[in-house]
Amino acid sequence: MWITGGTVITMDPQRRILDPGTVRIEDRRIASVEPGARPAPPPGGETVIDASGKVVLPGLINTHTHLFQTLLKGPGDDRRLEDWFRSVVGPASCALTEEDCYLAATAGCIEAIRSGTTTLKDFMYPHPRPGLSDAVVRAMTETGIRGVFVRGYIDYGEAYGVPPALIQSTDEVLADCERVARRYHGSADGRITVRYGPCMIWSCSREGLRAIQRLADDLGIGLTMHIAETPFSLENARARFGVGDLAFLEQTGFLETPTLAVHCVHLTPHDLRILRARRVAVSHNPTSNMYLAAGVAPVPQMLQAGIPVGLATDGPASNNNQNMIEALKFAALLHKVHTLDPTAITAEQALEMATIGAAEALGLEREIGSLEPGKRADVIVADLRGAFAGPVHHPVSSLVYAAVGTEVDTVIVDGRVVMEARRLLTVDEETITEDAQRAAGDLLARAHIPSPRARAWRPFAF
Ligand SMILES: [Zn+2]
Repeated sequence: MWITGGTVITMDPQRRILDPGTVRIEDRRIASVEPGARPAPPPGGETVIDASGKVVLPGLINTHTHLFQTLLKGPGDDRRLEDWFRSVVGPASCALTEEDCYLAATAGCIEAIRSGTTTLKDFMYPHPRPGLSDAVVRAMTETGIRGVFVRGYIDYGEAYGVPPALIQSTDEVLADCERVARRYHGSADGRITVRYGPCMIWSCSREGLRAIQRLADDLGIGLTMHIAETPFSLENARARFGVGDLAFLEQTGFLETPTLAVHCVHLTPHDLRILRARRVAVSHNPTSNMYLAAGVAPVPQMLQAGIPVGLATDGPASNNNQNMIEALKFAALLHKVHTLDPTAITAEQALEMATIGAAEALGLEREIGSLEPGKRADVIVADLRGAFAGPVHHPVSSLVYAAVGTEVDTVIVDGRVVMEARRLLTVDEETITEDAQRAAGDLLARAHIPSPRARAWRPFAF
């Protein structure tokens, strides 16, 4: 397959932009990336994608989401985190069925693909009944996206308001984590990989953390966890262990296993040193952090310290979508206004955090994150001309600050075209959309969560 004639943003170590350039894909990998347009048809009669006038770049990588929350866009609006979890996300999580998870994850993956994401990490923490992990992995497999499936867990925290239906025994957790890894790590021709995810410090027992790390080490897979998202994470860890959550994980040797630390909003200077010394990667979720008013992660300092940072959306109950193009803009703007410094994050840095930086954060930088020979062929083509991104002066500027996501027209994952001319080729989008809409209403009813449709107009908050 040849993708030729477009402006190629390679994200390679030299950050070359080839205008025009040609990307050649052989089997499932990138065979070459060269300047110039090739005349069609090429000698071997391969497929040619004419990208003239468009941009070609590595697929975006979302380092943290919760796909099941695709059914929960709205009911959590404008609430404090405790209320958001206790009134909406907690009860809905308890009522989740396999069908809900399949529809939510499929609709979420469609949304991700439509806005240029080729890899996403799904952190699936509620397991009120068996089979929910399998439903999410099935959605990833069928939509054709590259998936890092995190078998998350909760084995503690009733005292802090975690519904008992979401708390599994450590033994149950370990048995299912092992099953999921053995069944799905490397599945779909290697497109799906597995990690383990202790949800957050106040929902995890000390023994469980030790045991899950041992299992991860035995099976050679990584870990990920919500860390320092709210002041409560630190307070809880200090009360139980005498130090904050990140410092506790450092002291116990947990961070010796590759760990993706999600959020890292409330860090002490010592925590920043831990991240740097241990080269712990961070997943940055600017939209969710703003939506729940969690705070602002010190991302410019992390980047300066050489800590790998990957951008993410977080779950649609706190975002409320999977649009990484939107996340690019929010990431850049959040740090500008927070530091009162418009140079805090550049457009280029934002795009790095959604491509090669995200790949590094997931430990997949040898496989994805840039257009370089030998890497997996995860490529997107976007048309930035016209509303909203055009007229274009610089493609990276237009992508980060002007585009809205609908500019993405072709998406290739692992050498396979999954979206062509904005049409999904892998799943029946219309049916999934209708079914997911129905499932979203049913889930709220089953969980006894009042529909936002019934809420009064709120001229101010109470
Ligand atoms: Zn999360």
